[in-house]
Amino acid sequence: MLVTLLGTGSPLPDPLRAGPATLVQAGGLNLLFDCGRGVLMRLAAAGLPSPAFLHAQFLTHLHSDHVTDFNDVVTTRWVTSPVESPLTVVGPPGTAAFGKRTLAMLRDDIGYRVAHHDDLNWEPGIDTTEVLDGTVALEVLAGAGVTVTAAPTDHRPVAPTVGYRIGHDGHTVAIAGDTVPCEGLDRLVAGADVYVQTVIRDDLIRQIPMARFQDVCDYHSTVADAARTAARAGVGTLVLTHMVPAPPPGAADEWVAMAAEHFDGTIVAPDDLGVVEVG
Ligand SMILES: [Zn+2]
Ligand SMILES: [Zn+2]
Repeated sequence: MLVTLLGTGSPLPDPLRAGPATLVQAGGLNLLFDCGRGVLMRLAAAGLPSPAFLHAQFLTHLHSDHVTDFNDVVTTRWVTSPVESPLTVVGPPGTAAFGKRTLAMLRDDIGYRVAHHDDLNWEPGIDTTEVLDGTVALEVLAGAGVTVTAAPTDHRPVAPTVGYRIGHDGHTVAIAGDTVPCEGLDRLVAGADVYVQTVIRDDLIRQIPMARFQDVCDYHSTVADAARTAARAGVGTLVLTHMVPAPPPGAADEWVAMAAEHFDGTIVAPDDLGVVEVG
C-alpha cells in the first residue's frame, strides 16, 4: 500500500500546504480520504491527472476544510469521464444530504455543460454509502481484496465523525480525521502499520489572543495525544498531518521530537506529497 499525503494543511491558507486530503493506493485502487483545498492539483502531482481515476472518495466529516473541494472532485470527474461514472462516496450520516446539496449548488454549471457538449448527455452522479461503525461494503473494495472499516471518532460538537481502517495483503493503514483520543479511534488504530492523525499544537494556539482559536484546542488531538494513541495501539509509523499552526519549512522536526517523547515507533510529519510505503 502507498499512502500519499496530498494536503497537510488546515483551514488556515498556507502557500505550501493544501487542505486535508490523503490518497491510499491498494490492490490497484485509488482511494481518496477527504478533499480539502487544492486536492485536485495535488492529485495531479501524485500522478492522477483526473478524479476520474478515483475508485472511491471517503469523508471523515463535513467540516469545511475537509470537503472544500468536493464540488471540484464531482465536477472534474464528470467532465473528464468518457462514459457516465458516478462518484462513489463513503462518509458519516449526513453525507448523502451533503452530496445532494452540492449537486444543487452546481446546477448552473451542469446546465451550461450539458447544453454545450453533445457527447455529455448525463449529469454528474454521486453514489453514497453512509457509515458510522463497521465494514464498508463496496464491491469495488471486495474485488480488489481491500477491506475498509469505519469507526466513530469524537470531534464534538461536530458529529457524527468517523475514521477508517484500510487493510490489504496483511497490512493496515488507519486514517483518522479530526478527533480527540477515544475508544473508536483506539479500535481503528490497533496494531496498524501506519496511523495518520490530524494534529494541532495547543501550546502555540493558546498563545493566540482570539477566543475562536482557543476553541480549536478542545476537539482535536494534540501532538502528544496522537503519540500516546500510537503507543497504546502499538502502531508502526505515526504520520502527523493537518498541522495547526502549520510549521514553516524545516520546523516540522520539532513536532516529531514532541511526539517522540510519548512514542517509540517511527514518526513522520511530511510536506504535501510525502509518501509512506506499507509492506
Ligand atoms: Zn474538523
Ligand atoms: Zn480539520
